[in-house]
Amino acid sequence: MEGLSSPLRCFREHHAAEMFTDDGVETVTSVEQKKVESSIEEVISVYKQIHSLPQPMLLREQHYQYLKKGLRHLSDAYECLDASRPWLCFWILHSLELLEEPIPAAVASDVCQFLSRCQSPTGGFAGGPGQHAHLAPTYAAVNALCIIGTPQAYSVIDREKLLDFLWSVKQPDGSFVMHVGGEVDVRSAYCAASVASLTNIITPRLFQDTPNWILRCQNWEGGLSGVPGLEAHGGYTFCGTAAMVILGKEHMLDLKALLRWVVSRQMRFEGGFQGRCNKLVDGCYSFWQAGLLPLLHRALFKEGESELSRQRWMFEQQALQEYILLCCQNPGGGLLDKPGKSRDFYHTCYCLSGLSVAQHFGNADLHHEMILGKEENRLAPTHPVYNICPEKVAQALQHFLQLPVPADAGPPPPPGPAPAGPAPALVPAPRRSGGRANQPNPGDSTRPGSSSQA
Ligand SMILES: [Zn+2]
Repeated sequence: MEGLSSPLRCFREHHAAEMFTDDGVETVTSVEQKKVESSIEEVISVYKQIHSLPQPMLLREQHYQYLKKGLRHLSDAYECLDASRPWLCFWILHSLELLEEPIPAAVASDVCQFLSRCQSPTGGFAGGPGQHAHLAPTYAAVNALCIIGTPQAYSVIDREKLLDFLWSVKQPDGSFVMHVGGEVDVRSAYCAASVASLTNIITPRLFQDTPNWILRCQNWEGGLSGVPGLEAHGGYTFCGTAAMVILGKEHMLDLKALLRWVVSRQMRFEGGFQGRCNKLVDGCYSFWQAGLLPLLHRALFKEGESELSRQRWMFEQQALQEYILLCCQNPGGGLLDKPGKSRDFYHTCYCLSGLSVAQHFGNADLHHEMILGKEENRLAPTHPVYNICPEKVAQALQHFLQLPVPADAGPPPPPGPAPAGPAPALVPAPRRSGGRANQPNPGDSTRPGSSSQA
């Protein structure tokens, strides 16, 4: 483990020189940026007054209590997330695994039963029991079940139906809609690729043309937008890039332009990341943006880049840890966007995930830790593609790769009026038995989190 330099970066004399200057042009954006910087300056100055030793602490016990309570009881404030209930399971379970807090068997079993009630008869998972299947809660549910990692958890997932659901949302141009009749954006490609690779249901045709469609989302800025032609955004950039990695096509992206875009999103004064150019820092981008650096490191390594560090990611890992530990912790547990905002499970999950990325370089074979503060601040590493702990990814792959890939019925027939005249004989679509030709094997050694990553 590498000791971090003292004093803290934000205690150094020249830190104030990193503050934003508006060059005499005041805009709504510049005013907001200055407000955020002054609130952070205040947090730092209070911290300086009460701590002679600069050892920012992760409030483990408080976060644990907050998360434990959330698994059984949510306040009224969460009513608006009634269609995102598998997400709450994932956010809380992943935060607990990062804190290395075991999930009691009874709780794990209850979560499995709840998620099985969210599984739709048409395949995939819905945001709650009785709702329509949607790719986002499908991703969250599969991740949550893989974190639990018991035979009961794996058996919840109906893989044949899941494949049917993925076909029902696949579009002819390679993209996916989030749900039947819903919107297209690059989140869906990631959610589909993530669940399909984890559960071993990738068929040769399922992701046909998807990499080409994702590639169209990379714009002149270097990052990726939700759909081709829009502004680059951290969440979409992570989703598109991680999907490309799963599909083994990350080399198709302009990796250098992507690298330049993402490292420019780390804020000079705050140390955290913004989601888009000219936006404010936000704790959740600690994962969506910083999480791109492990993906890029590995992709550039595969491309033969010889100058890559074998100890550090290409962002300021200490500055991000300072931002999360000093500015994003609620003293009563839970983490948040920025000072002045309230805590929630989403920000708790993604602040902790980003903190883990900033603490751990490399993979199982080449590992270098850089922990700000005491050793007790150390979180478990997270898998940069799936954002669950690497051993849970390995365990799920080991389980599902033993099962055959379900037969691929292919795309459903296009909707439309029944043809006039006598009904044609019903010829069943050719059903091919599973095979993984031309598809990357998520369990092979070139996958992220395995030996060749760095
Ligand atoms: Zn946020």
